[in-house]
Amino acid sequence: MKKVAFYTLGCKLNFSETSTISRLFVEQGYQKVEFENTPDIFVINTCSVTENADKKCRQIVKNAKKISPESFVVIIGCFAQLKPKEISEIPGVDAVLGAAEKFKLMEHLQNFEKQKETIVCASEISNATEFNNAYSFADRTRTFLKVQDGCNYGCSFCTIPLARGKSRSDSIENIIKSALEIASSEVKEIVLTGVNIGDFGIQNGRRKENFLNLIKQLDEVEGIDRYRISSIEPNLLSNQIIEFVASSKRFVPHFHIPLQSGSNTVLKLMNRRYLTELYVERVSKIKENMPDACIGVDVIVGFPGEGDKEFLETYNFLNELDISYLHVFTYSERPNTKAIEMESPVPTKIRQERSKMLRILSEKKKRAFYESQLGTIHTALMEHDIKGSKMFGFTENYLKVELPADDTLVNKTIKLKINKITEENTSIVSVEDNMLV
Ligand code: SF4
Repeated sequence: MKKVAFYTLGCKLNFSETSTISRLFVEQGYQKVEFENTPDIFVINTCSVTENADKKCRQIVKNAKKISPESFVVIIGCFAQLKPKEISEIPGVDAVLGAAEKFKLMEHLQNFEKQKETIVCASEISNATEFNNAYSFADRTRTFLKVQDGCNYGCSFCTIPLARGKSRSDSIENIIKSALEIASSEVKEIVLTGVNIGDFGIQNGRRKENFLNLIKQLDEVEGIDRYRISSIEPNLLSNQIIEFVASSKRFVPHFHIPLQSGSNTVLKLMNRRYLTELYVERVSKIKENMPDACIGVDVIVGFPGEGDKEFLETYNFLNELDISYLHVFTYSERPNTKAIEMESPVPTKIRQERSKMLRILSEKKKRAFYESQLGTIHTALMEHDIKGSKMFGFTENYLKVELPADDTLVNKTIKLKINKITEENTSIVSVEDNMLV
């Protein structure tokens, strides 16, 4: 039995896809093993957003070859689609598969026989029109379920549409089937993932369904305790979606909404489809309906044209906004984007300083959010993550909680009260009566 190992870089979507591809191998009789366990085949799923994607990819291939010098190494994922030739020249790589080919890996690489030349199957991204469903079984508590892929937006900094193609989605019917399959396993929480999931519903180039209907129908699936929406564009997060989440049985009050800049000048340069005024409205609407909701924000610093004035606007905007944490990205130039040709690039040192300022702001926001929750009662799904005498879990509004380790609570939802915040923003909680929910 041949052994295969996987390595994933990048986002939750990549993780869900690796997981599905690994199941295809297992169905064909391969044995899935850890990276270090001398595999015969390595599959490395790459990301184009990762800093130094090329360097990371080289490093992983090098490690793989050290572990199993005779192994067959396959590179898939966004970076493989964007730079197939470059990747095929990395010593030790046997095959490179693009976005349209990665789920047909078995057909393209029959028996994983080594060829004289590196095999490159990366057709034009316009060929990536099929939707391939995927979900991960990373741990037995939570699953990432892919419901949508690709993007039709043209943000000036973004290579994702070039790497993943046009927007396309699974049908609600199929997604419900996947949710039922997941429900029949031990998993309690599903995180809905995609590239631009608010745009859900496009199949074969035509809009057939919409995100609101998807979440309404998922909410009825018995056996799943919780759903989380991984990230949704502010212009697609409608009042109806917010109101539905507020009244739903299973969707949790946790939103992750990309902002990217708090300056309207920069938002326009980025070709985003909203201005800061709309973002403020979305946050207010969420907080009106769900005062304890957790709101995470993506922001990019150092975009061309972001002068001191624009950065200060961003800083002040975020400082005043009722949000819970930031994911800060430092802008870096990407080939084939509009942004790379823009005037007024920001010097690297300034990008780094701004990034540091926003990371500190994020810590402040997170602390304030945790403190605002002192004394409140929540349900937490306890995870397999047991470290020494402690175990951890997350509340529905994404507070990380810590309890004394107890095997019987793993993968259980319990009711608890937040009564102390540690230095690292992990709340220590007391457990309420009738604790199992
Ligand atoms: S919405 Fe913009 S940033 Fe997000 S994937 Fe689409 S083009 Fe990229």
